[in-house]
Amino acid sequence: MTHDDVTAEPAPVPSDCLFCKIVAGEVPAEIVATDERAVAFRDIAPQAPMHVLVVPRDHHGDIAQLAAADPELLGAVVALADRVAGEQADGQFRLVFNSGPHAGQSVFHVHGHVIGGKQLGWTPA
Ligand code: IMP
Repeated sequence: MTHDDVTAEPAPVPSDCLFCKIVAGEVPAEIVATDERAVAFRDIAPQAPMHVLVVPRDHHGDIAQLAAADPELLGAVVALADRVAGEQADGQFRLVFNSGPHAGQSVFHVHGHVIGGKQLGWTPA
């Protein structure tokens, strides 16, 4: 995908979206925080003492699509990540959005990995 492919058109919502099902309560998850527009739950394969995923309630495929379609919602996702880091750790956190399979994205409902709870190194690739 290139930036030219990113439009403000709403993407079709896949009927089998795992994170839509977690938001809807149809798939169990350990929810740690919610607000009107976003939900935060623990990653099932944590990579750090705090590893929480923050997702918008509305379906968007990746961070670029979300930013193009609804930048305020992206702001709400970041704000909930900040709240989670304050409640679950020391308020400091790394926020990672994998975008596309080559970047490691495996679930195509945009999600921020909120990682922290220890001194983090920097080996992103
Ligand atoms: P991605 O690879 O950046 O798309 O991140 C997907 C994340 O979702 C991975 O870190 C998985 O461990 C996590 N994950 C997959 N299924 C579930 C689930 O059912 N509950 C919570 N986390 C999940």
